[in-house]
This record gives sequence, C-alpha cells and structure tokens, in this order.
Amino acid sequence: MYAPRDVKRPIVPVRLDLDSTICFHCDKELACFTKCCHNNSTFLTPYDIIRLKRRFAMASDEFLVTYTAPGKIEASDLPVPMIRLLEDKGNACPFLGEGGCTVYEDRPVSCRYYPVAAGLFHNFDISDNENFFALIKEGHCLGHDLGQEMTIAEWRQDQGIPPYDEFNKGWVELILRRKSLGPFVEIPEKTLEMFFMACYNMDAFRRFVLYSNFLKIYRVSEDRLRQVKDNDEALLNLGYDWLMTTLFGAGRLELIEQVVEADQVELD
Ligand code: SF4
Ligand code: SF4
Repeated sequence: MYAPRDVKRPIVPVRLDLDSTICFHCDKELACFTKCCHNNSTFLTPYDIIRLKRRFAMASDEFLVTYTAPGKIEASDLPVPMIRLLEDKGNACPFLGEGGCTVYEDRPVSCRYYPVAAGLFHNFDISDNENFFALIKEGHCLGHDLGQEMTIAEWRQDQGIPPYDEFNKGWVELILRRKSLGPFVEIPEKTLEMFFMACYNMDAFRRFVLYSNFLKIYRVSEDRLRQVKDNDEALLNLGYDWLMTTLFGAGRLELIEQVVEADQVELD
C-alpha cells in the first residue's frame, strides 16, 4: 500500500476505488486527538520532502539529517527517508505540537490519505493502482462513522492530495520498474545512491546537474535548465527522467554523445 503509517496495524482487507464511500471525521475534541501521530512508520515521498524543506526554508540535506532516518521500500531494496520519531516524547512525530500538527498545510501525503491507504505499489500497471485503496481501522481512532459520507475521490480533493500524486508519479514508476525485476536482482550501491539523491536530496541533485559533467552527457534544453535551477518540482521531474534513462534504458533523456556511458557521470 502507499504510505501506510504502520504496516503492522490492521488494514481492513476491502478493496475500495475512487467511487467507494467512507464516513470519517477527525476533530480536536475527540479523545484520540494526536494518538495517530505517535509510533508511526511514516515514510516521506519526494514531494513530501520538497514541501517540508520549503516550509522550514532548509536545504534538503539539512532537512534529511534533522528529521529523518533511513528506511527501505518493501520488496525493492530502494531507500526511503522515514520520519524520525522522538523517543523521549513517547515516539511522537517531531512535527507534533501541543495543538496538533505544526506542518498541517504541508503534512505528508500519508497523513493526508489517512485513514485511507492507497495501493500505488500493488500492481505493476500504474493506472490500475491509481484506483486501488483500502481502509485502515485502528483501535484508537474514533473518527470512523462520523461526519459526512464522501467518495475516495472527494476525500483526495478535500485533503489536497492531487499535487502529491502528480509529483510522486515518476517515483512510483521507478519503484514499480525496480520491483518488476524481481527480488533476486541485486541493485548496486551506486545506483541506490543515485536514486536517493535524485528523489530526496534535491539540493545535492541540483549541484550534481549544474557542476558535474551531467550537461555534457545529457541534452537538456535551455528552457528546462532555467526551470531546474530554481524550481524543485522541475528538478524532480528531470531526476525521474535521468533515473529512468540510466537505470532502465527508457531513453527519457537524450545523450549528447551516444558512445558515452551513463556510468561515467561521477556522483558527488
Ligand atoms: S480521529 Fe483518528 S486521525 Fe483523527 S486524531 Fe483521532 S486517531 Fe487521529
Ligand atoms: S506530520 Fe503532522 S499529521 Fe503527520 S504524523 Fe506528524 S504531526 Fe501527525
């Protein structure tokens, strides 16, 4: 499932789609308020990191060091940053304040979907996964069967999810490609580093694009380069194209000299 906040907790095994309805309401007045912000295994997607580092006006490497711990995406070996919980505060999320979530407008997509889990890694066909959801029912959460009935499509809009899915789409595609190779194909360390940098460490990837021999190897239009210089979303899309090209031969970026091997690009 896509960003379940703790895979050990119960997920009701009922397949939902965009037209399925849920009845859920979260409220500060409920006795369970913020219980869902403790003891979670929350992984951060590329667009989560862009939104949060921008909110804190932090460089991506500083954000990653301050707030995350290393994790792996199930059945892929691919790295993913996890929110690092505060052990001395009962394993609370570091973004939890007295009045609730302190990053609410930029909260991660898994927090937005909750109590829905989206099955973006369920099927190798991305378009099928875009319509695959399940409902998470945890004992402590009192929000079920409260409020108005909504379709999952309405819930996604209500929670501001569409830009997250849009800018994470290339990441999901890369993960599905990796998974389709099967568990016995080993991924070299250097490849894992490339994936981590291009998906999560935007500022390191920007330096890499601008100051390594990247632009001598890949043809990037002036217009695209201008956007990449100061727009993280444009840079993220370039990263997806680069990874699809170098890791899976998908030809999303044009080589300036066909004879140059992609692995001649030196990582920082
Ligand atoms: S209703 Fe559920 S999501 Fe809302 S605060 Fe309570 S536990 Fe968290
Ligand atoms: S980001 Fe906000 S909503 Fe999500 S777990 Fe942390 S405090 Fe809770």
